[in-house]
Amino acid sequence: MEILSSNLGYPRMGAKRELKKALEGYWSGKISEEELKDTATNIQKQNWQTQKDAGIELIPVGDFSYYDHMLDMAIMLGLIPERFRHLADKQGNGIKVDFPTYFAMARGAKDTPALEMTKWFDTNYHYLVPELDIQPSVLENSLLAKYQMAKELGFNPKPVLVGPYTFLKLSKEAGLSKKDILPELLSVYKVILTQLAEAGVQWVQIDEPGLVLDMTEEEISQVEAIYQQLATDRLNLILQTYFGGVSFYERVVNLPVSGIGLDFVRTEENLENLNKYGFPQDKILGIGLVNGRNVWRTDIKKAFALAQTIIEKARSKGVIIQPSCSLLHLPVTIELETKLAPEIRTILAFAKERLGEIALLTEAIKNAKLPEDVFSHEREVHALPEVKERVRSLEERDFKRGESYEVRSQRQQKVLNLPLFPTTTIGSFPQTKDVRQMRAKFNRGEITQEEYEQFIREKMAFCIGVQEGIGLDVLVHGEFERSDMVEYFAQKMTGFIVTKHGWVQSYGSRCVRPPIIYADVSRPSPMTVKEITYAQSLTSKPVKGMLTGPVTILNWSFVREDIPRSEVAYQIALALRDEVLDLEKAGIKIIQIDEPAVREGLPLKKKDWSAYLDWAVKAFRLTHAPVKPETQIHTHMCYAEFQDIIEAIDAMDADVISIECSRSRGDIISTFEDHHYRKGIGLGVYDIHSPRVPSVEEMLVILRRCLKVLRPEQLWVNPDCGLKTRQWKEVIPSLQNMIIAAKRLREETQKN
Ligand code: GLN
Ligand code: ZN
Repeated sequence: MEILSSNLGYPRMGAKRELKKALEGYWSGKISEEELKDTATNIQKQNWQTQKDAGIELIPVGDFSYYDHMLDMAIMLGLIPERFRHLADKQGNGIKVDFPTYFAMARGAKDTPALEMTKWFDTNYHYLVPELDIQPSVLENSLLAKYQMAKELGFNPKPVLVGPYTFLKLSKEAGLSKKDILPELLSVYKVILTQLAEAGVQWVQIDEPGLVLDMTEEEISQVEAIYQQLATDRLNLILQTYFGGVSFYERVVNLPVSGIGLDFVRTEENLENLNKYGFPQDKILGIGLVNGRNVWRTDIKKAFALAQTIIEKARSKGVIIQPSCSLLHLPVTIELETKLAPEIRTILAFAKERLGEIALLTEAIKNAKLPEDVFSHEREVHALPEVKERVRSLEERDFKRGESYEVRSQRQQKVLNLPLFPTTTIGSFPQTKDVRQMRAKFNRGEITQEEYEQFIREKMAFCIGVQEGIGLDVLVHGEFERSDMVEYFAQKMTGFIVTKHGWVQSYGSRCVRPPIIYADVSRPSPMTVKEITYAQSLTSKPVKGMLTGPVTILNWSFVREDIPRSEVAYQIALALRDEVLDLEKAGIKIIQIDEPAVREGLPLKKKDWSAYLDWAVKAFRLTHAPVKPETQIHTHMCYAEFQDIIEAIDAMDADVISIECSRSRGDIISTFEDHHYRKGIGLGVYDIHSPRVPSVEEMLVILRRCLKVLRPEQLWVNPDCGLKTRQWKEVIPSLQNMIIAAKRLREETQKN
């Protein structure tokens, strides 16, 4: 039996985010096209070398991208939407996608909006959505060029591309239907594959993560038809799936390809199906054995035992040992985290460290024997028995507010005395350069804590003054002290670490640095009380306490796996609960607990939704259940498509929610027609992502639409998200218009 080691994809940014810097330098005109290309080539070479040095036999090419791999795929398939075609065909010489065209598709150009962007499965990576408005055609086989470059440099490259099923599944019909273009699409794929075969390519990885989503009979039949057509004996086509178990396992493994790659890390589904249905003996099995989505070092003994079970059961022609998915979703290397405590460092593995694990496991499997002293998780680091006990002893009533919403809202109104259609904002105000610079200075030790805090107080005072001047009803402190809504809290709670270079690509040149939850979570001291009470001391209007919710903190972090996610969520929730009570004690009357990431944490398969929503809702309730009925709890969520989880949102039992709405042009409003939502609600009246100042009239249009389905007493008036990325000169007039809109609405309503 043949045994090979392989990788599915490597981070694209470079260890020090070289690509980010080069891209942004190029976009701002500071570096040339050549310099950008050089940086990209160097990163790819470096990545291939790292993988080769680690002992990886099949090294991916085509996993790198200047912006996004779905965009690259669309271009390779000739799917340049109409509005970009004139850019791509400057002198009528035929379509050729140069950098300006490529980046116009990615980021938009003057009067030409970019492709839409959305989440890549349940990751925090965002891809560009291909648009179908023209038949596919062979443009340029860029994969072939990349293969040749890697080959010449002496590597053993394995071209990677997105398969037709997933590609279509994630595309958007724009004049042509998916069915319309399928035949032509397949002929282009065939040309690409044939050219690769002719160039001597032996292995091709064709990614079909779409197969782990829920699928219909019609869809699996379509997949069968697709691969019937792509079947070839000129090269080894490995159909690669990841992010979970495949739907229709027994049919997927029998598709006419040389090998099937399955994820054995994320869930047990593939293993269960392997036990049930076996595996075709004339095929190669790609065993996703080390985690491409999380940062814990692999327990080598366990992974080795799992591999042996799989191999024995599958009896396949060959096996490939590989990560569960592309390593794109991991930071580059733990080597750069020199300041981490050794006991934490030794339990972590980023992309580079995963390669070592794969090589080691492959070797062990070849020899049917593990070397001595391999890594195994034995003990938990920094356990907090009192935190565990607190979670264990939770009872039903700990998750429930004492009074019904009706009682609460009356009591709150007595205390708050708010006008009809109260106006507020979502929390952050412009994080201008001076704020970032002061924070950097403070972190470098160039200014004292006292100086930094004084600076933050001045910012808050300014912000409160601005809000009073504009005439908002419920104020915020502005979040100037926060680098990021999750990282800020991670730094204040135990059980988290934040890294220095642990960047993961989010989209294009944008990276995020998720905190790592490695131990039990607790809150040694209040986290926000000082700032909020200071802001409140400056005004007689209510200032909202501002916290990030447990589900969002969890979903935007790397999470420990030795206890269930739900338990980690409860631990965070209990820490936040203490904070909520401290804020209440300090006289804060409204507390907002943001949960923008609830929706995106939904599992990929519908059957798993209710289990997730159950603990997610409970975790949120845990944070606010013990407050007095007079204390008003708000929450905020962004990104559309709440339709399918509206009941869960209701069950979170916040007194007021604010949701993004303006980008979906108010489409979400209709959701409330069928669902009898009775609590307070603010549907964002303008899009904060755009620098333009919205008019009073356009905000009134949205508000009037809201009033068709909501009672006037329910409706709040607010922008659709935090104002952190905006400038004061846009924020002030926008909010002034918002206040005018609210006043007009009050007049209209009172007249009727
Ligand atoms: N309170 C946060 C802010 O205003 C909410 C951010 C978010 O929804 N992502 O910045
Ligand atoms: Zn938001």
